[in-house]
Amino acid sequence: MNPFIELGLRHDIVNAINELGFEKPTPIQEQSIPVLLTGSNDFVGLAQTGTGKTAAFGLPLIELLDFEENHPQALVLCPTRELCLQIANDIKNFAKKMNNVNVVAVYGGASISDQLRQIRRGVQIVVATPGRMLDIINRNAIDFSQVKYVVLDEADEMLNMGFQEDIDSILSTTPEEKKTWLFSATMPSEVRRIAKRYMDNPFELTMGEKNTGNANIEHEYYVVRARDKYAAFKRIVDFNPEIFGIVFCRTKIETQEIAEALIKDGYNADSLHGDLSQQQRDKVMKRYRERSLQLLIATDVAARGIDVNDVTHVINYSLPDEIENYTHRSGRTARAGKTGVSIAIINSKELGKIRQIERVIGKKFIKAEIPTGFDVCEKQLFALVHKVHNVTVNEQQIEQYIPRIMDEFADLSKEEVIKRFASLEFNRFLDYYKNAPDLNAPADDFRRAEGQGGDRFNRDGMRSEYTRLFINLGSVDEFNRGDLLGYICNNSKISGRTVGKIDVKGVYSFFEVNNGDVDQVMNAFKEVEFKGRPVRIEISGEGTSSSRSGGGRREGGYQKREGGFNRERSYAGGGERREGGNRERSGNTGGGFRDFSGKRREDRPERKRRF
Ligand code: AMP
Repeated sequence: MNPFIELGLRHDIVNAINELGFEKPTPIQEQSIPVLLTGSNDFVGLAQTGTGKTAAFGLPLIELLDFEENHPQALVLCPTRELCLQIANDIKNFAKKMNNVNVVAVYGGASISDQLRQIRRGVQIVVATPGRMLDIINRNAIDFSQVKYVVLDEADEMLNMGFQEDIDSILSTTPEEKKTWLFSATMPSEVRRIAKRYMDNPFELTMGEKNTGNANIEHEYYVVRARDKYAAFKRIVDFNPEIFGIVFCRTKIETQEIAEALIKDGYNADSLHGDLSQQQRDKVMKRYRERSLQLLIATDVAARGIDVNDVTHVINYSLPDEIENYTHRSGRTARAGKTGVSIAIINSKELGKIRQIERVIGKKFIKAEIPTGFDVCEKQLFALVHKVHNVTVNEQQIEQYIPRIMDEFADLSKEEVIKRFASLEFNRFLDYYKNAPDLNAPADDFRRAEGQGGDRFNRDGMRSEYTRLFINLGSVDEFNRGDLLGYICNNSKISGRTVGKIDVKGVYSFFEVNNGDVDQVMNAFKEVEFKGRPVRIEISGEGTSSSRSGGGRREGGYQKREGGFNRERSYAGGGERREGGNRERSGNTGGGFRDFSGKRREDRPERKRRF
């Protein structure tokens, strides 16, 4: 038997949700639907967003109401317009095979007369944000005297947003004997209090541990110095070419600044905050939902109720002031059974906050290292390789050019051609990243903050003795670590004992030498060639405390384009953002990478921001 039928739902509802792709109930649906279907309990459900809680209360509601009657029988209160529209829409979909079901969404920032008209026509289910609801009640435009069920969704958010009094006033117009169902992601004492106030011996359901975050979310933190935060953030994004993320900032100003900086740096980003008009917000959300945007930079308030599946990363650019908000933020990823990563970029003084959050979510964070510039290069290179491999070829269009292309490549082996294609973009990353500094906060910072020393940090200990050098030879030149050590020592006449870590990559390698030997090595290789190619040695920014800062300049405007998430091109210029922006320059060869357009963001002094 269909598992939803077993829960007690009727066929026309089950058929409708099957068409929506619901094959079996989520855990919260499994547990709450049978209880709510009795219609005789008050109910408190502690559930994260994305767990299927809209159906958990929406399905029983439509099962219980009498749709032959055309007056309000159920009221759902929720904190934001987005959530309000989402819930109303979901309920309509659940009831699409039933007759005479009228649902109205009542929210601010839209024409009240349309909403009043719909109410006058007759509705059974009102889904509302508190402010506009109260406005309509004060106009005597709705009669809640026959309401049987009130749902308080995301109750903690409503309280955070200061809706307590509005909720009191609204509920005072509903009958005493109605049943109240409250859902909340967290259960701070304020929510406990309203549960007590509005409910009589409610049935309580906790999905997972109390206050525990979604188990499918992995929590990571990165420790950086304040001045490196933006650069570190970009590096994390670059290291995740397929990222589809929400980035949380603490203030509107910060949100705006980060979004603008990202747009200027060629990323596919935009901001969502309270200073935007409703129309602007809708537009941003539409682009994000459609994935023409890869990064949504948002404040906590603006991001409430965002219901987008497949968000891969939540990035806490700034940690929230309220720990509870961390749960809300991270809950925007790993929805509907998917997995996701919630990242916090912090400075060493904020480690205490991470520990507090760990206690609240009942889960440990993983301490992650900001990837090196070369890790990013490698990741991007293989993303490109993957993309080339999977690209859809337009046989008809390309056919006419094939003879000429083949002609051009006639003297090259397959391997040579591949190498050149890959190098086209890869050389640019290398140029950009070869001197990219280590952006992880030095070990001393966290030793102090964590109150512990320890060998986790002894790589930093080497920093004072060794300098990390880049050499343009690697495994493709058939070097392994031993070969490279011999090659370096033979040419520069230094002792192998003074060489530190050797890291052989594909077309390049790194090696560490004693600070005192750097000049000798660099000088020794000035004239050296390897198989007819000049050997190049440079000081790598990584791992050296006095390294050159800044990721350097990326040349030649390569831009994240077609393919991947970026159906829309990024913008090189500022201007009125989005459409108005000065679009992509042409002429760069395909490939999906960003235009760093000469902006040395990483070099810029930290701007004064209010954190
Ligand atoms: P919610 O927590 O209500 O916002 O739901 C999160 C997402 O999960 C929404 O996109 C729902 O459409 C989807 N969803 C809810 N219940 C189920 C189910 N039983 N099977 C598959 N998807 C579901």
